Parts: sequence; structure tokens; C-alpha cells
Amino acid sequence: MLRLTLPSIPHVTAELAAGSVRLPFAEIVGREPGPTVTITAGMDGDEYAGIVACHLLYKRYTPSKVKGTIRFLPLVNVAGFRAGTSKSPIDGKYPKFIFPGRANGTHTDELMHWLYETYIKDASLWIDLHGGSTQEKLTPFIWLYQSKNTAVRGFQRELLETTSAAVVVHDRHPFMRYSSFLDSRRIAHVLMECGDLGTHRKKDIITLIHWTDETLSAFGAIKHNSKRRQKPVIYTAVKYVYTPNGDDMKRTQLLWRCIDPQIKKGDVVAAYGLP
Ligand SMILES: [Zn+2]
Repeated sequence: MLRLTLPSIPHVTAELAAGSVRLPFAEIVGREPGPTVTITAGMDGDEYAGIVACHLLYKRYTPSKVKGTIRFLPLVNVAGFRAGTSKSPIDGKYPKFIFPGRANGTHTDELMHWLYETYIKDASLWIDLHGGSTQEKLTPFIWLYQSKNTAVRGFQRELLETTSAAVVVHDRHPFMRYSSFLDSRRIAHVLMECGDLGTHRKKDIITLIHWTDETLSAFGAIKHNSKRRQKPVIYTAVKYVYTPNGDDMKRTQLLWRCIDPQIKKGDVVAAYGLP
């Protein structure tokens, strides 16, 4: 298990049939009314930049800065974190692929069911922070599923106008299982990923914090002044590919690439090479 220096925050216990789990949880209720937002990290247990950033975000905001309620769950996959893996070692499942989970399943099914029922279902925005697993090499990006409903589309436009991220994927495809599920329930969802190969560099953590500030601001959940200097490149699809290192999982790494619809199908417009 990696030793991370993290600020202390309160905990909550998820009482699951497969065994209870204690995980960090805190919330800030703003002085002014506003939306309910949930921020998670550590869905992939080995994505440390996101885990650190989410802890620091809780320390960063105060009730006078927040409008509405912001909840922080900086380490969803506690078992994966202890094992140093993206997936849960208990049942071999990836929390991010289990949605919305179910009550009578294995550990990860239940955990995600608990997360959805307790903290996502009644939120109007879910921000999920990722940090590039021990297997992933990528260019930092913000990822949004192109929403079908008006209110969420308005927020997505605002975020595209204000974010300082260099790469945004405004995806036409329901890339993740929860994309269309959440959209049908009018819950806005933003996934952001910065960092790679299981590192937790300060610059990546700071980037995730700034992107979260901008996202919360675009949603009207915090008071914040954006000052971006450049427009992002907006892609409408992502793919990830394996490096040709055979079956040796220790050496096999994923590369993320984004694909623009203006380019012929299958053309790679941004392939992110290994250092
Ligand atoms: Zn991830």
C-alpha cells in the first residue's frame, strides 16, 4: 500500500451485506442556497493524484465560498487502494464499470449501489477525479457525455467556455456505463483525469483542483473567478490502446487517444506516447 500524506477528514461507514466499509467522507454546506454536488476520487484505487486532490479540495472550500452542498468521497475503492490496484481485489471488479450497482451482488456491486443511492441519486452534479493508474499513460483531459437535456447542456456549454483544460472530450458516445443512465436522470457528470503511471505529482494535483474549481463555478456551486488563457481542443470520442508489450501486465500500459469527427474514421489525431 502506498503511503500518502493526506489531510484528515471524517469518515462514513457503508453497511454492506458483504461486509461494512469505512471510507473518507465530508461535506460542506454553503451559507447561500445552491445545488447539491458530489465529488468522488479513488474509484480506481491506484489513481493517487485524484485521491490527494479530493482531500485537498475539502480543505480548500468554506461555507462562505460554497453555494449549496458539496460532498467529498476521496477514496471510493478502499480495498483497491490498499492493494495498489484500479479494481477491487475482493471480487476483481472495477467500480467505474459497475453502475448503478445492486444490493444483492458482490462487494463492488453493493458498494456502487450504496454510493449511488446515498450520494449520487439526489445530487445534480457528480465530479469524478482520476489520476492515471499504474498502467495508464495519458494526456490530461476533462470528459463529458454530450447531454440530451437542456439544463445539463447549458452547464456543459458554460464549462467548455471557461475551463482551462487543454483537452476536453465532449463525447457523442456513452463511453462509460453510467453516461446515459445519469443523463436520463438529469444528473450532470464530469470525469477529469490528470497524472499517469500511478504517480501523484504536485502539478497534476493542482491541475485537478483548478479544473474542479472551474467546474463548480460553471455549475454555480462556488464563487470563483476564472482566468483561462486558451481554448481547449474539443474531441468527441476517446479510445485507449495497449502498448505492444505482450501479456506481461507489469509492462503493459494503456495509451489514451482522442478522435475528432472532422478527421476520417479511425485516424489518430492525438496519440499519447510513452516518455
Ligand atoms: Zn481512472
